Amino acid sequence: MRLTFLGTGAAWSLPEIGCSCLICIGMRRKNETRSRTALYLEAKERVLIDCGPDVARQWWANSLGGVDTVLITHEHGDHYLGLDELVALRRSSEPEEWCPISTFATEATWAVIERQFAYLLEKTLEKRLAVPGRRLTGLRTRIRPFKTFHGSVAKGSVGYVFEDAGKRLVYTSDLLDVEGQEDLVRQPHVLVIQTHWINEPQVNRPSLLSLQRALPMIRSWEPQEGVYLVHISDADRVAGDPANKSLKKVVPADPLKDPQTGVPYPIPTCQDEWQKIAERIFQDNRIKVPVQVAYDGLTVEI
Ligand SMILES: [Zn+2]
Ligand SMILES: [Zn+2]
Repeated sequence: MRLTFLGTGAAWSLPEIGCSCLICIGMRRKNETRSRTALYLEAKERVLIDCGPDVARQWWANSLGGVDTVLITHEHGDHYLGLDELVALRRSSEPEEWCPISTFATEATWAVIERQFAYLLEKTLEKRLAVPGRRLTGLRTRIRPFKTFHGSVAKGSVGYVFEDAGKRLVYTSDLLDVEGQEDLVRQPHVLVIQTHWINEPQVNRPSLLSLQRALPMIRSWEPQEGVYLVHISDADRVAGDPANKSLKKVVPADPLKDPQTGVPYPIPTCQDEWQKIAERIFQDNRIKVPVQVAYDGLTVEI
């Protein structure tokens, strides 16, 4: 399987509009961006996993050839609002060659998508149901959704397990926990996991995963070859940043600390720092599998 990280950012692309926190300033200085998290998997089918508002830009930035099926993880705008852009694929094909793109989501997620995009179901998208634990039908790549808890405002939330050519990939999407289907996520070759913050906040109201909270999950799921971190935000507080007073900057409950010094790890402000700090945290927590902080455009062979 070949996996491309089309986007690796949180609900609003980074650097964020109207924001002059040290993370956004640092990213602008280094010309770094993170568009909304979405993946493109080439296995027996070409699979687009989530379709946020950045999809057109992501499509061209990664020279995507086409898509056979679309999987939506849940009913939040950063994961489905780009579906309307896929009309362009129909418009540029010859009438007799076009068939609607099979698009999978759970029933609860479809209920929200259909309120917005019912007109897409006529010609552009074929509505298919993702049922947690059951293999998606009509595809040659083995794909199974698993139920995730992402709060009461995303009741249809699922992650997906992909199996092809003897390899297994788990993608969690947004979550706080896996709901009773841990057997599906155990011992993958590769795990792509959400890490919205470094530190678990005092109040985790959007029901998202911090790297701190992810560590015991990663340890118990035992990924074999690699862990990739995605859905990265600018909501951790960087020491001394005047923007720490803004609404999005969360107060950590009990921040991750360097075991040697007892001092909290510094909060990364760019890709390079993220990678170094993630490696340190994995090492200090005796998690031996290699960690890669994903960045937009990264492609890996699995
Ligand atoms: Zn999200
Ligand atoms: Zn979400």
